[in-house]
Amino acid sequence: MLARMTSSPAISIRDVVKRYAPAGGEAKLALKGVSFDVPQGGIFGLLGPNGAGKSTLINIMAGLVQKTAGTIDVWGFDIDRDMRNAKRSIGIVPQEIVFDPFFTPFEVLEIQGGLYGVAKALRRSEDLLKAVHLADKRDAYARTLSGGMKRRLLIAKALVHAPPVLVLDEPTAGVDVELRRQLWDLVTEMNNEGVTIVLTTHYLEEAEALCDRIAIINHGEVIANKTTRELVEMAREKVVVLTLDRDLGQLPVDAAFLKSEKTGERTIEITYDKDKSNAGRVLAAVQQQGFSIVDVTTREADLEDVFVSLTSSAA
Ligand code: ADP
Ligand code: MG
Repeated sequence: MLARMTSSPAISIRDVVKRYAPAGGEAKLALKGVSFDVPQGGIFGLLGPNGAGKSTLINIMAGLVQKTAGTIDVWGFDIDRDMRNAKRSIGIVPQEIVFDPFFTPFEVLEIQGGLYGVAKALRRSEDLLKAVHLADKRDAYARTLSGGMKRRLLIAKALVHAPPVLVLDEPTAGVDVELRRQLWDLVTEMNNEGVTIVLTTHYLEEAEALCDRIAIINHGEVIANKTTRELVEMAREKVVVLTLDRDLGQLPVDAAFLKSEKTGERTIEITYDKDKSNAGRVLAAVQQQGFSIVDVTTREADLEDVFVSLTSSAA
């Protein structure tokens, strides 16, 4: 592993712009001046809907896509001035699975080790296969592996040169629940061994479960960058859904309501701040205004609500 930097961020991204200008196609501003730091040692989530620009950013770090403007330091190395060291500091697991189907997992790792100039004696192909639970597939053809096994092999491949930073682009997109758990465990294990992890996802529960810090990106812009706890804390809202005994003329109003909304002939949704009020108070206020309540359910806001409110207001 490369010498550990002192307290600088594992990755530092400043004002990164990417404009795709495909020949004959329409130009697209995929990143509109993105800046954030990934601190060392944690699991950092880059969260955003499809098309937000996550893969573009990661592919720029990997040297696969040319940025239009801005700077990126990986482990203290500027990717423009010192791509060699920047590349040695990072392992990237791409979103798309691509392998030569005729190599075995062991060969895939040995070839990658060769590409990175890892001396034969220092290669850890066997250990890496064990780490991703593929030791028994050492000599199988890559084409015979299941989707989940291929993804795990890609993780091992990204770790061949023992980078201090591992970036995973949508590692669990389209995988089943069990495999998702396995990948979460694997990511956690790697992190416990000291590897800084960056992972992109559009699954909020995944980000909430795994990441200690989350940046949310939408339409090529960072719209939030906070600890996971801070983000979830933003969801102080609670919703009561009421069915009333008659059609509504006027909506009930009360100082404790943040919002009330008619969602059907006889149903309303009332949003309140759970630190300042409670469902009982909301119901009492509605009844006092002459409405009879036929049915009640409540909804707790979560990261999903924060995400939806942030991404829809920035649209
Ligand atoms: P995400 O990974 O968050 O889903 P991407 O980085 O793949 O988002 O895409 C961001 C935007 O850039 C999208 O609008 C996408 O269509 C566009 N885009 C991505 N790659 C290319 C490309 N090679 N040429 C033109 N546009 C692209
Ligand atoms: Mg993507």
